[in-house]
Amino acid sequence: MFRHIEAFAGDPILTLNEQFVADPRPAKINLSIGVYLNDEQRIPLMGAVAAAEKQLAQSFHPHPYLPMAGSPAYREQSRKLVFGGANAERIATIQTLGGSGALKVGADFLKAWFPQARVWVSDPTWDNHKGIFGGAGFEVKTYPYYSPATHGVAFDAMLDQLRGLPAGDVVVLHACCHNPTGADLNPQQWRELALVVQERSLLPFFDIAYQGFGGGIEEDAFAIRHFAEQNIPLLVASSYSKNFAIYGERCGALHVTCKDAGETAKVLGQLQSAVRKNYSSPPGYGARVIGAVLQDAQLRAQWEQELTAMRVRMKHIRSALHAELQARLPGGDFEYLRIQQGMFSFTGLPVEQIRKLRDEHGVYLIDSGRMCLAALSNAGVAPVAQAMVQVMTE
Ligand code: PMP
Repeated sequence: MFRHIEAFAGDPILTLNEQFVADPRPAKINLSIGVYLNDEQRIPLMGAVAAAEKQLAQSFHPHPYLPMAGSPAYREQSRKLVFGGANAERIATIQTLGGSGALKVGADFLKAWFPQARVWVSDPTWDNHKGIFGGAGFEVKTYPYYSPATHGVAFDAMLDQLRGLPAGDVVVLHACCHNPTGADLNPQQWRELALVVQERSLLPFFDIAYQGFGGGIEEDAFAIRHFAEQNIPLLVASSYSKNFAIYGERCGALHVTCKDAGETAKVLGQLQSAVRKNYSSPPGYGARVIGAVLQDAQLRAQWEQELTAMRVRMKHIRSALHAELQARLPGGDFEYLRIQQGMFSFTGLPVEQIRKLRDEHGVYLIDSGRMCLAALSNAGVAPVAQAMVQVMTE
């Protein structure tokens, strides 16, 4: 029956991770996977999350199905985190299975109601954007985004491409901490982009998987809030995987901004319909934990403090690696490490050098040259710099 089935090529990042685990060298360093590790090289259990879990464990609660749209308290808190307090009656929000689930439900919703649209993603982007939107039946195309020459955003080329798109095409935008490049638009560029999106009647779909990892919770939501203030209809996929370090509980949200309360009710209904057809209703545990943290002033303050410490640690590691590289190779240009934001940077190292880093030094980066700085410890900075300089100068 299943003889014709082809083998799954595997996900390149997860396959590399398996290779890392099997590598017997004790000094190996894994900078390939998109996970934040603390200086002890572990996924942190945030104190606010642990405290909320303890509270929940002490109160008896059964495990009913959640509604299709998820927990009402979680939805409200999620909306506020992304949009601030504004326009509650004009935003349809549902709880989703992580950011991936939000993208998938959003993609199914769009395919049902905008079947002719094409979906545009940045070049490069998080690979699964192509998988999810392609899987929902869309033709997925790319717009220019990254400039290797400046290590920044190729903003003019990006705008030129978007200016030429037909009305109703969907543009996927990373709200902050672009994955995989770490290169973000600045506020002025977001304002210019909003004008083009409005002029061309494009439909932006923001992906915010790293809120709080760039400039801060409010700063990282700037683009979304600005577009919403301009009354641009938009979708947002938000994720708590990273900023609550709650990866496996699959917590995220999908938001759609609408014209008025009537439109919001209809959109919410169609989002529920898309959920029903995919997995019926979302899981309860993670939403309870996050809802408990965000609703309690003390836990929320603790979470914000812990999130700030994570952001500061990533910036510190960026500066430390920059200093170490610059000291070892004074002619090199490593400023990009300090300018780029979030967990990742694009090193720009060619694939042969990436392979040498892996094979000869046990330093694992994915072939694109993306480095996960959020997985680098203080102790790892010098050996990584040493290995990078060696492969760059051989
Ligand atoms: N979007 C981007 C840009 C991401 O980097 C990720 C996670 N790597 C996701 C979405 C998916 O998030 P989640 O793990 O919450 O599904």
